[in-house]
Amino acid sequence: MLSDVDPEIAALIQSEQRRQSRKLRMIASENDVSRAVLEATGSVLTNKYSEGYPGKRYYEGQQVVDQVEQLAVDRAKALFGVDHANVQPYSGSPANLAVYLAFLRPGDTVMGMALPMGGHLTHGWSVSATGRWFRPVQYEVRKDTGRVDLDQVRELARAERPKVIFCGGTAIPRTIDFPAFAQIAQEVGAVLVADIAHIAGLVAGGAHPSPAGHAPVITTTTHKTLRGPRGAMILSDAQHAKALDRAVFPGLQGGPHNHTTAAIAVALHEAAQPEFREYAHAVVANAKALAEALLDRGFDLVSGGTDNHLVLIDLTSKLIGGKPAARALDRAGIELNYNAVPFDPRKPFDPSGIRLGTPGVTTRGLRPEQMPLIAAWIDRAIAAHDNDQALDRIAAEVEELLAAL
Ligand SMILES: *Cc1c(COP(=O)(O)O)cnc(C)c1O
Repeated sequence: MLSDVDPEIAALIQSEQRRQSRKLRMIASENDVSRAVLEATGSVLTNKYSEGYPGKRYYEGQQVVDQVEQLAVDRAKALFGVDHANVQPYSGSPANLAVYLAFLRPGDTVMGMALPMGGHLTHGWSVSATGRWFRPVQYEVRKDTGRVDLDQVRELARAERPKVIFCGGTAIPRTIDFPAFAQIAQEVGAVLVADIAHIAGLVAGGAHPSPAGHAPVITTTTHKTLRGPRGAMILSDAQHAKALDRAVFPGLQGGPHNHTTAAIAVALHEAAQPEFREYAHAVVANAKALAEALLDRGFDLVSGGTDNHLVLIDLTSKLIGGKPAARALDRAGIELNYNAVPFDPRKPFDPSGIRLGTPGVTTRGLRPEQMPLIAAWIDRAIAAHDNDQALDRIAAEVEELLAAL
């Protein structure tokens, strides 16, 4: 037992479990995985080295691991409707790096959404290796709409001729227009990569359009809306399969994390059930209800609302920065993150916004009827951000709600 071998870590894990269960966990990239996923993650598969791919390994003893990985691959292909799946990337960032390795050489041009506009570091942002070793061109959202302007993307692509175009990001509250991106990529001869890390569960559950058939390469994490273990996948058409596999191994990684692969297979099995479709739609319904309730309370939302699982609040009009707001909300039992908003006049470490999402609270069983209550708590907590007693009272109410579920 862990508690006998290492009581310190055992106690910390227990504390974290208690912390998670008592809070409204609204970090848009987080979720609560099932017991089954946890069990697979904590299995003896962690003991095994298996560099290579099923049937082509560099170590003996792969009789079982080959079957585990093949199951994960087959389930990924079936769920997302793609020719090929690589389930070995250690996480979303290495999955994207593998894409660079497969299609680009240092100095080549890559196009992605700028980080402060909602893109990801690995889409060519300056501090990332992807922005330092390649030549990034970055698109933005329109100032008036808060949405991607595809005419602007096309113009930039035509002028800069990127070899790879990324669509998707970490703070995009709106539907991603995969067919439009595909058309632009085709016009300039670029490979379109749809990074669906945030929305993979919505795609799997039919609550967001799928990039399959539009983007020849799709990268995703498995631990956000998809509700699996921390890991990633690269999905692709047959044409790019070999280059991507070689980029992951031996290009970038050594032995795959087989316990994670097994847990990914479990999550994919769960995501193929009818209940998961309901879950994905409930995530969106909750986010929309939350956005409505926040608008009713006078909050400014980037793009004016949401189509998916996340809401980005610009707190400028509330005369508070994102960081003190996020800290107050955490004390009030509502866990989220401070976040830059497009064209943010403040610094990245102290930006104007907060980002919140509904994947976690939907897994806990919350429904649209309860979103106005959350909006009210957010409103109260921000108004009372320097009053610890008031924040603690909200935290107690949050705990009460969660305990009653
Ligand atoms: C989360 C995320 C990643 C990176 O995933 P990690 O597992 O944190 O490395 C990549 N791209 C997008 C769009 C993401 O949201």
